[in-house]
Amino acid sequence: MAGSPGSVAQVGVLALQGDVREHLAVLRGLGAEAIPVRRPEELATVSGLVIPGGESSVIDKLSRLFGIAEPLRARIAAGMPVYGTCAGLIMLADTVLDSITGQQSLGGLDVAVRRNAFGNQNDSFETDLDIPELGEPAVHAVFIRAPVVESVGPRASVLASLPDGRVVAVEQDNLLGTSFHPEVTGEHRFHERFLDRVRAAA
Ligand code: GLN
Repeated sequence: MAGSPGSVAQVGVLALQGDVREHLAVLRGLGAEAIPVRRPEELATVSGLVIPGGESSVIDKLSRLFGIAEPLRARIAAGMPVYGTCAGLIMLADTVLDSITGQQSLGGLDVAVRRNAFGNQNDSFETDLDIPELGEPAVHAVFIRAPVVESVGPRASVLASLPDGRVVAVEQDNLLGTSFHPEVTGEHRFHERFLDRVRAAA
């Protein structure tokens, strides 16, 4: 890890809906100064942002209502590091499949993501994922009404797939997205990877 955890600039968790507290706790546990972000003025004070899991259609609506969607798109385009989990990954995807009518994403990640891709029988499940970039041990991944990355464009790359080949973690420059929820299992390596990018961008 580059630099000491304490040297990281202030980061945010988009706090419109979803499991905001869990992400704040992980980031603070890693030594980062982390604040909830709802308004454009708060966004302006952070050097990186986590978009939590929750319900992407609600996060979308609230982000437009709070006037933060456009400033956030601009920050993403300008290279701010962003990590999206589950609904957060959906928000980062350039294309969302099975969206509700009128649902928009922020975009940035050159992927198409399908919402609720695992169907009713497999609504929630847990599995271990080998992710070479993260080393040992395997990542214990919890999927909750999770999306799947259905296609990966040339600008994005695959970080993790299920044994059947379905893509569940991707990255592209300063953007990182996972279908699953590391913040609920004590898995900190994705947040560390995000904080490394924040440090590198500073
Ligand atoms: N199914 C949710 C959505 O479409 C995502 C679920 C989650 O974030 N755990 O936004």
